Amino acid sequence: DEGLQKTKTNFFDQLSKAVVGKNTVDESVLDDLETLLVHADVGIDTTVKVIDRIEKRVARDKYVSTNELDRILREEIVGLLDAHGDTTGSRAILDRPDSPGHPFVIMVVGVNGVGKTTTIGKLAHRFHSAGKKVVLGAADTFRAAAVDQLIVWGQRVGVPVISHGMNTDPAAVAYDAVLKGVEMGADVVIIDTAGRLHNKVNLMNELSKIKRVMQKVIPEAPHEVLLVLDGSTGQNAFLQAKEFTRATEVSALAITKLDGTAKGGVVIGISDQFSIPVRYIGVGEKMTDLQLFDRHTFVNSLFK
Ligand code: GDP
Repeated sequence: DEGLQKTKTNFFDQLSKAVVGKNTVDESVLDDLETLLVHADVGIDTTVKVIDRIEKRVARDKYVSTNELDRILREEIVGLLDAHGDTTGSRAILDRPDSPGHPFVIMVVGVNGVGKTTTIGKLAHRFHSAGKKVVLGAADTFRAAAVDQLIVWGQRVGVPVISHGMNTDPAAVAYDAVLKGVEMGADVVIIDTAGRLHNKVNLMNELSKIKRVMQKVIPEAPHEVLLVLDGSTGQNAFLQAKEFTRATEVSALAITKLDGTAKGGVVIGISDQFSIPVRYIGVGEKMTDLQLFDRHTFVNSLFK
């Protein structure tokens, strides 16, 4: 897989180095593996969990060859992701029968710079090119650039963008976007929001107001709260996941910029620690650089 090339080369090379000249998985191999997982940004808690499980297997089977380590590690990682593997939510939109007047509403959250707007553009393209009707709502009204950028994405993809400009009430934008979605018979409404983490009370209030107001139009909305995280920022992505899950209920993750990082391990740790399914991964800046997350493909890409 081209997009994840950097992630995989590094992890696999390092794993090979850690076991060179050794036949069996012993303490020192496990120590090296632990260091490697932490460096790959798997996160300490998930790393300890993985090492513990491998240690138990080694204790049980007495002799585990280093040749098997690769396979065992894959199994353990797939197992961690398995618990939260998911093909529901917005992933299922393409399979939904047309139901005019009942759009699936996605509220997208995340701090500036993580690739939130780009991810919305990519999602809009994914749904639009499959023949679904899409409406975007520019409710990140805090930054002028955010509104403009979303409008540009709307034009590029060919879907309408509801915007009231900068410094307007984000909840009013969300309300209008959802209403427009209902009126248009849209299948999907995607709402951009401002991710100002430095003011947590504001963030929490803003997101709950947006939700409350859109629920006047569709009581079940938002059907998905998608948190966008930059996969190249390692521990920062963990911190953001922590803050956002405190501010609102997050039901799915999109992890961006995995094309430019050797730290894809963040995907494993975050999914495990927060028990939230990773639905999408971003592997480039283009409209088509969005992949559906698949745990087997992902884990294989880490190794070979
Ligand atoms: P926002 O502030 O969160 O809305 O971030 P943007 O969507 O404006 O993205 C910030 C920068 O990251 C832009 O230059 C995007 O082209 C870039 N970007 C977004 N997603 C990806 C990705 O998956 N891979 C790469 N390489 N760049 C990305």
